[in-house]
Amino acid sequence: PVRVRFAPSPTGKLHVGGARTAIYNWAFARATGGTFILRIEDTDPERSTEENTQVILNAMKWLGLDWDEGPEVGGQAGPYFQTQRFDTYAAALERLKERGMVYPCFCTKEELDAKRAKAEAEEGGYAGYDRTCRNIYPAEAARRIEAGEPHVWRLKVPTDHGPIEFEDAVYGHMSFPADVMDDMIVVRTDGTPTYNFAVVCDDANMGITHVIRGDDHLSNTPRQILIYEALGYDVPMFAHLSMILGADGHKLSKRHGAASVEEFRDRGFLPDTMVNFLALLGWSLDGETTLIDRETLCKSFTLDRITKKDAVFDETKLEWMNGQYIQRMGAEAWVAAARPWLVKAGATEADIDARPEWYAKLYPLVSERLQRLDEVPAKLAYMFWGAQVPELDEKSVKKVLLKEGARADEALANCRAILADESHAWEAAGLEAACRELGDTMDMKLKFVLQPLRVAVCGNMVSPPLFESIELLPREDVLARIDQVTA
Ligand code: GLU
Repeated sequence: PVRVRFAPSPTGKLHVGGARTAIYNWAFARATGGTFILRIEDTDPERSTEENTQVILNAMKWLGLDWDEGPEVGGQAGPYFQTQRFDTYAAALERLKERGMVYPCFCTKEELDAKRAKAEAEEGGYAGYDRTCRNIYPAEAARRIEAGEPHVWRLKVPTDHGPIEFEDAVYGHMSFPADVMDDMIVVRTDGTPTYNFAVVCDDANMGITHVIRGDDHLSNTPRQILIYEALGYDVPMFAHLSMILGADGHKLSKRHGAASVEEFRDRGFLPDTMVNFLALLGWSLDGETTLIDRETLCKSFTLDRITKKDAVFDETKLEWMNGQYIQRMGAEAWVAAARPWLVKAGATEADIDARPEWYAKLYPLVSERLQRLDEVPAKLAYMFWGAQVPELDEKSVKKVLLKEGARADEALANCRAILADESHAWEAAGLEAACRELGDTMDMKLKFVLQPLRVAVCGNMVSPPLFESIELLPREDVLARIDQVTA
């Protein structure tokens, strides 16, 4: 059975590239009935923080990428923090010793630096550690260790090893010459495992079958394969994911604006959008379909549809897609997701809790007009102005009210009379029909009749549907706003 993992280092927020890696692992596990593991690679004590771990977990939850084993949920292969797995690395080192695949190296940093400098000055350059300590007799090495001499442990790369080869699920057949691999350090002087060693120990001990990760790790893979071989463990399947580029063709980074999942959340993108959009950065269902919901993704994800072409992060497409998901999400989910921005627009938490049905009615007003939820305040603030319009849009005032002058005032007065007439039900269709009739009776283009009303009620000549908005506002507030303009 498939066991995959997402293994972030908690050195910062969850970047969209990391999120895509997480999505692919998650979707692959779901599509195959496998297990999705979350492992925190927190062995870099300077850069790893608990706070970052929490931020990453929160981003994963927000995206809806549930993990089957890992922090908070536990599992049979735990613990899921590398800092809690040092005993397993020690055990793996013992195993390598027993198998005669490691040796202690007593070379000091000064000695190594000198060797490197010398080799670099010579023709051929530095080809890695020269294996001096590989030739120390075991008894002698044991004596020096016993005497407390500082040492690292190095992998004994077989000198007759042919090229290191593997079939990458994305890149296909890969081959690296083994003779350029020096005897890499697996355990440092202070007893801590090196990065490659810890990853291999964890992947082996956790029974990982497929390693799906960014291709920035491709150069680690041959080294890791040597470690698997030395330990006598099966090598998993690798799938390396191509880079994500910004619109300018450079690797996506902070320079391109938002780079972390959190930032996209704060700009009003939906988790469904992000999962769909990121899934398509390097994978496709059929080369055409752009809207792919989670269920479809989890049913149809396969490694063979991952492309090795670099993917371009297209913000315009992301915004379009978010608009599509906003249109599809439904009123209730929208109110929940838009809540922070509704509050920015002028709502209160208490009011949202008290009358969610009223807020749900805002949804049809804007569902086709939003690409991001952070547009909610600009689009809907007028719904929270009460009796007082804080400021009218200057351009609208000029164009709709001033330019038309008396005709605009008259139209507004006539509309007011209709809205003030209590024999009219306070309901959009009826009110609109009555106001529209004014077009005939006043012999005016409808636009000139209704636009002044729109400016008075919404503060702007561009707004969500006018009468549907009016219906949701108290009559006295609407009348007061009109009076404010005509005063
Ligand atoms: N911790 C590594 C990273 O954040 C991932 C290691 C791996 O996937 O093998 O880049």
